Amino acid sequence: MEVGNIHSQFISKKASPVKPGVSLKASGEAQEAPQHKDLVDIRQKPAREVMGKEDLRNFLGEIPKVDLHRHLEGSIEPKTLISIAKRKGLELPAYDEKGLKPYLQVTDQDKTLLDFLKKFDTIGKAFTDKDAIEEITYEAVKDANADNVKYAEFRFSPVYMASQYGLKEEDVMKGILDGVKKAKEDFDTDVKLIMIVERQMGVDHAAHVGKMAEQYMDKGVVALDLANDEFHFPPGPYAEVFQKAKDAGLNITVHAGEAGGADNVKVSINDLKADRIGHGVRTFEDPEVEKDVLNKGIPLEMCPTSNIQTGATKSLETHPFKRYYDKGIKVTINTDDPGVSDIVLSDDYYKIVDQFGFSLQDVENFVMNGVDAAFLPQDEKKAMKEKYGKEIAALEEKYLVAGTPATKTSSNKPGIPSDGA
Ligand SMILES: [Zn+2]
Repeated sequence: MEVGNIHSQFISKKASPVKPGVSLKASGEAQEAPQHKDLVDIRQKPAREVMGKEDLRNFLGEIPKVDLHRHLEGSIEPKTLISIAKRKGLELPAYDEKGLKPYLQVTDQDKTLLDFLKKFDTIGKAFTDKDAIEEITYEAVKDANADNVKYAEFRFSPVYMASQYGLKEEDVMKGILDGVKKAKEDFDTDVKLIMIVERQMGVDHAAHVGKMAEQYMDKGVVALDLANDEFHFPPGPYAEVFQKAKDAGLNITVHAGEAGGADNVKVSINDLKADRIGHGVRTFEDPEVEKDVLNKGIPLEMCPTSNIQTGATKSLETHPFKRYYDKGIKVTINTDDPGVSDIVLSDDYYKIVDQFGFSLQDVENFVMNGVDAAFLPQDEKKAMKEKYGKEIAALEEKYLVAGTPATKTSSNKPGIPSDGA
C-alpha cells in the first residue's frame, strides 16, 4: 500500500545532504548559517518573507498537523463516489470527475450554508452499504495522511448515513471502524471519531445519537457534536442531551457562531457544556461572549475556506482568525469538508499565514493549539507536542538553513530572502 505523501517528490528533489548549520550559496560555496539569535529573530518575521511563498506552501504541507473539524461525509472525493457508483450501478448526474464536481463541490454560485449543505444530497448516494462506508473512511484517512495530517478527529452523522439506503446503524459503524482500522495499518495518522446530532431532527433523535455515542466510547468515539442548519435550529433545546453525554464522559463540541450569532456560542458553552466550538466565527459580535471564550480557554475550530463558502464571513480579509489569535483565544485551523471545498488542510494554513503575515512561531502555535484542543489524554498530547516540535524545527532548518531560500539570491542575508513569489 502506498504510504508516500504528495510532497515526497518535492522533498527528495530539494533536501540535499547539507550539514546542519551550514548553508550553501548558489555557487555551492559554504557560508555562515544564521546564528541561534538570528533564527529566533527570523521565526518572528512574516513566514512568507523569510521563506518565500513557494517554500512556505511546501513547508506547510510537510509539517505534522492535526485536523479537529473534518466531516467524514464531506471528505468524499469525486473519484471515490464515481468508483462506488460504477460498482453498485448507481445513478449520478455525471460519471467523470469534472462533470460531477459541481454537484459535490462548492462553486462560485454557492453562497450560503444551505447551498453548501445541498451538496450532501449527492454525497448521500455514496453510502450504499457497509463496504462503501469502509472505502469512504479509508480514503478519507489516506487523503489526510497525504497532507501530513498526523492526527484527525473525523465527525459523522450515523443517522444520515444509515438513512440513505435504510442501513442498520450498526453496519454504518462497522464500516467506519473497519475503514479506520485498515487505514491505521497503512498510514501513520491517528484517528478519533465524533458523532453528530442533526439539529433539525429534534430532541428524541439527539438522545438516540447521544446514547449511541456512549456505546462506542471504547471504540474510538470521543465526542458528541451538534451540526447542520444552525440558522433555523438554535442549540438551546439540546442542552439536556449534551449535559448527559458529558456526564457519561464524552467531550462536547458544537457548531455555533457560523450561520447563527454569538448567542448560540454562549448557549453552547453555558448550557450544552461545549469543550470546543465549531467555527465560532461570529463570536466577536458580542464582546462579552468573546471574553468568555477567552477566559474559559474554549478552543475555536476555525475552517477558513469553509467559513467563506458558507457565508459565515465575507472574505479572508474579514475573517476574525487573527483578531481572536491576537486576543489569546485558542484558535485552530481545520478543513470542515475537504471534499466539498476541494482543499487540503495545508491550503488553509497557507491562506491564513499568507493573508495575515503570520510568522513561523505562529505556525507552530497553530499546530500546538490543535494538539492542546484534541480530545486525547494529557500524556498523549504532551508526547505529540514534543514529537511535532522536533519535526517542525527540523523542517524549518531544512528550509531556512540548508534549504533553497539562501541559495536563490546569494546577495541576501542568509535565510532572509526576498519574497520568492
Ligand atoms: Zn462542520
